Formats: sequence, structure tokens, C-alpha cells
Amino acid sequence: DLLVVGSANADLVIGVERRPAAGETVLGSDLAVHPGGKGANQAFAAARLGARTALLARVGDDGHGRLLLDSQRNAGVDTAGVLVGGAPTGVALITVDPSGDNSIVVSPGANARLAPADVRAAADLLASARVVSLQLEIPLETVATVVEVVRTGRASAGAGTGEGGTGGAGTGEGGSGEGGPRIVLNPSPPAPLPAEVLAACDPLVVNEHEARFLLGDDPAGREEAPETWAAALLARGPRSVVITLGAAGALVADRDRTVLVPSLPVKAVDTTGAGDAFTGALAWRLGVGDDLETAVRFAVRVGAAAVTRDGAQESFPTAEEVAAR
Ligand code: ADP
Repeated sequence: DLLVVGSANADLVIGVERRPAAGETVLGSDLAVHPGGKGANQAFAAARLGARTALLARVGDDGHGRLLLDSQRNAGVDTAGVLVGGAPTGVALITVDPSGDNSIVVSPGANARLAPADVRAAADLLASARVVSLQLEIPLETVATVVEVVRTGRASAGAGTGEGGTGGAGTGEGGSGEGGPRIVLNPSPPAPLPAEVLAACDPLVVNEHEARFLLGDDPAGREEAPETWAAALLARGPRSVVITLGAAGALVADRDRTVLVPSLPVKAVDTTGAGDAFTGALAWRLGVGDDLETAVRFAVRVGAAAVTRDGAQESFPTAEEVAAR
């Protein structure tokens, strides 16, 4: 149902008393190695909830790559689309000080080599998905190629499968009835987006920081009201917009309405990966036919659960845990 196209990183974490200055060496805690990267996190979150999920990504032919493949497979993700080799697996070198502040160096490695040609070679994988979820830790040209392949595949499948109907009672949301997969994009880390990419997003999923970045010089970005950001972002062309608001939940907007979906009150322990869990859950629910607001109502529960435990992937809930809240 869901195809995630994106990054897979090994997060290498060391606790330090303080960060080293230039030329200095400090001793830190034992090294912790965690599977991460926004693409891998989203796929993991969805699969853990029970979604039929595939990942299109690139890792190195190395131990970190094997760690990532193992964790995806253990969660139930179909990893046939994960390409191996070309560069070392992407890593994030993370130091955390006693106040919880972190300093991070990312080496994109194999993620930077996930190329447009890899996407074209995976056209069947794209065509068989109901939702394709994207982020920006892979080259922007690769993201743009996914959008192009989905759009042209849609055009050439025009007389074909008629999947878009899905028998739903006229929700009219999934894939807009055109038979191709629906595209969900979380533009993170934020970067300027080509108009064709923006126009394909349904929804564009942003947090406050990404919303303000995309709005740039637009005066709407200097306002404090997320409704204003949503309206200004919609004017850029996406079919719908979801703005995540941390403990306040998420705002859902399309041309017809704007709705604030509150979060659940929880004791937040570690918000790492909450946005990825939210977006993975949202993309999956859209793929199985929920309308956007219903999918966001589910996703905020998943995001809330993810902040109650330490870590990223290891904090993501099962469907039973979400239902129990
Ligand atoms: P990001 O992690 O990308 O910055 P947010 O902080 O907006 O994104 O969090 C994404 C989602 O995770 C929110 O929409 C919400 O559902 C959930 N969430 C995050 N922080 C909290 C919190 N403190 N309490 C409850 N839910 C939260």
C-alpha cells in the first residue's frame, strides 16, 4: 500500500560532558548505533503499525547497511527496493551533552547516490503503490523524478486499472481518482521546491520550522497563526497541507476547509522521530482509504505515542498501543 522513497542512516551517538573545541579531544560514553534516516524511520513506523510497506533507498555494502536492512525487515518492510553499494551507508555522528543538546554531522553517503535512474528502474514499484511518501534527505532531482514517473505513469495508465475509486463512499481524496499513487512529501531538511513537486503534494507535511522556511519572505511566515501559513502554503500549489504543531497536534488544510486536530496530552520524554512516525502513519492511512482529516487524527496518536519513549524507531508504537490510548 505504501512506498517510502528516502534516506537510511546509521545514527552514531556518544554522550559527552562538553563538546570538543577545534584541535581538542574529549572522552565520551560508549557508542550507541541506531538505525535512522527519515525514509527508514517512516517505513519502520508504518510497518510497525501493520502497513504493507516497501522502501526504495540506497545503503552501502557495509555493516551499517546490513543493520538498516535487518531493522527494516524485522519491522516487516519489503526491502527488495533497497539498493546496496556505490558509497558507504549514510551516517549521522551525534554528540549529546548533559543538557540534552546535540551536535550532529551528517554524511549522506549512499543516500546522495540514490539517483533518478534508480527511480526509473523502480517504476513498477512506484506504480504498485497507493501512496508514495518522500522527504528531502536524498537528492532533489531524485524526488522530482519520483513525481514525474508517478505523473506520467498516471497519464499512461489513464485507460487502465481504475484503482482510484477504491469503492469508498465518494471521499474523492485518494489519488484523486486518477489511478496512480498519491504523493505525501515532508520537505525535511527544508529546501526550495520546484513547482511540479509542490503541485503533486497531497499533502505537503511540514513542521513550524519547515513552514516558515518554505514561506521565505512571504509576510504570512512572520505571523504566529498556523492557519495563515497553511493558506499561504496552499497558494503555492499543493493539493493539501498538514502542519505539525508538536504538543498542539496538527493543522489540516485543503481548498475547502482548515481543521485543527489536537494531540493527546502525554508526558514527552524524547521527540526524536515523532515527525517521521506521524508522517509514516498518515501516509499509510491515506493509502488504505482514510480521508485526510481521519488520517491525521490517527497520525497525531502515533506521534504522541512516539514521544513517550526514548529513541526514534524503538519508540514507534504498534497498532495495539495506539488503540489502547
Ligand atoms: P517534528 O518532530 O518534525 O518537529 P512535531 O514536533 O510537530 O514535528 O511533532 C510531530 C507530531 O508528533 C505532532 O503533530 C504530534 O502529533 C506529535 N507530538 C510531538 N510532540 C508532542 C508532544 N509533546 N505531545 C504530544 N504529541 C506530540
